[in-house]
Amino acid sequence: MSEHHTHRAGSTEDLDVLGIGIGPFNLSTAALLPKDAVTARFIDRKEAFDWHPGLLFRHATLQSPFLKDCVTLADPTSEYSFLNYLSRSRRLNRFVVADHPNVKRREFNDYFKWICANLDTLRFGTDVRSLDFDGRAFVAGTNRGTYRAKDVILGVGRAPFVPEGARPHLGSTVFHGSEYLLRDIDITGKRVAVIGGGQTGAEIFDDLIGDDSRLPSEVTWVTRRGNFAPFDESPFANELYVPGYTRYFHAQSRTERQRLLPQQKLSSDAILQPLLESIYRRLYETDFLQDRRLGYRMLVDRHFTRVSPAASGWLLTMEGPQGTEAIEADIVILATGFNHETPAILDQLSDRLVRDEDGQVVVNEDFSLQWDGPPDHRIFAHNMSLHTHGWIDPNFAGMAWRSGVIVNSVLGRYLYDVDVDGTTVDWGGKTTTALELPAPEPVGAGV
Ligand SMILES: Cc1cc2nc3c(=O)[nH]c(=O)nc-3n(C[C@H](O)[C@H](O)[C@H](O)COP(=O)(O)OP(=O)(O)OC[C@H]3O[C@@H](n4cnc5c(N)ncnc54)[C@H](O)[C@@H]3O)c2cc1C
Repeated sequence: MSEHHTHRAGSTEDLDVLGIGIGPFNLSTAALLPKDAVTARFIDRKEAFDWHPGLLFRHATLQSPFLKDCVTLADPTSEYSFLNYLSRSRRLNRFVVADHPNVKRREFNDYFKWICANLDTLRFGTDVRSLDFDGRAFVAGTNRGTYRAKDVILGVGRAPFVPEGARPHLGSTVFHGSEYLLRDIDITGKRVAVIGGGQTGAEIFDDLIGDDSRLPSEVTWVTRRGNFAPFDESPFANELYVPGYTRYFHAQSRTERQRLLPQQKLSSDAILQPLLESIYRRLYETDFLQDRRLGYRMLVDRHFTRVSPAASGWLLTMEGPQGTEAIEADIVILATGFNHETPAILDQLSDRLVRDEDGQVVVNEDFSLQWDGPPDHRIFAHNMSLHTHGWIDPNFAGMAWRSGVIVNSVLGRYLYDVDVDGTTVDWGGKTTTALELPAPEPVGAGV
């Protein structure tokens, strides 16, 4: 039911809520925003929903359980749950029997598309080129006319991060990992280097070494970390992703939050253990069990500094324990993550945003950005609060819950009971109580 180009160029639409970007996070908010309570549109520049298509490997799995879908952790009764998608797709029983340890990303992409097909508040093919406040409303200029809204909800994601030393040479043989599958590169017999030891680097390395019919002559995998590390998926690490901890984290001082984030990094930014095992076994196979050996190097503790042209291909320079090192490659893939700067969509409002001593925007507990405009006009933001809310920010673990918090704030009432879970661990510092909104209605009969 999502519509495409019904909003004509030159026309203006007045709304209560404008959602900008339809990735998983704003899709979650769109799914949880009750029909008829507010006038809302969610718009995206893409022609149709697609979730990180350049990395949608056939075998890639979610890094999180499927219950962390768009809605369940805010409203388990929502019709937009992954389980309802399976049921409507007539495969719930088969899914249960299949007992996947992790759901494939392809299946979640299809689930997201199913939600899109069932929401009539979405508009694709609409690129927001300006966003300002005219004193009475936010005004978004797009390729398909103007939207005016009381509140905006940003879900524009994060732009790929390219290290400065690679920027001058971006092109067909030096590119960011997020474009990997879109480029259709010929790797056979080539020297390929992958920079970055996170999940994306691992998935690309795995793909490069996986097929005997198209093996590179040499693959080098470089990370600045001390090793190729697995996610910490243990229960107490997972408690960092429940609402009780997020409220605790938000209540800490800026310096305390900065101290905690690197300590907790492996709970969010690392490699799935089954993928590490699969890579290790594949390297064992190519080393000992087949005639065709694979040339590979796995370099840890190396800080990539720059790419420069070599006689043939590229010279990669890095700093390591032994000082400066250089290797040659024909293709350089930058699995260097995503940018954490304030997104460009906020450029015109930039001077009105409140910033901390590091120049980062200050994000309220309900995910609205502090600004000098009227307090009843809010800019909510997904994926912009790592520094204020912790590692839940870029992860599905926080998706439905955060959307529930945002929807409650937009409506000014407690529609979703988002303050239910505390944690077993006493984190040792001050915490906050639930957000101050009218108490939720009792749900159901209870037992
Ligand atoms: C390959 C990959 C796999 C991941 N897997 C998991 C996982 O399994 N579990 C987990 O917890 N996390 C995962 N993550 C982390 C995170 O959940 C995802 O990055 C997720 O896509 C973030 O959602 P988002 O909505 O913030 O941004 P995005 O998915 O990046 O979507 C942003 C949208 O905004 C649109 N947009 C941007 N600017 C404009 C504009 N000016 N006008 C209109 N539209 C605009 C874009 O077109 C895009 O569609 C993964 C990340 C990656 C890269």
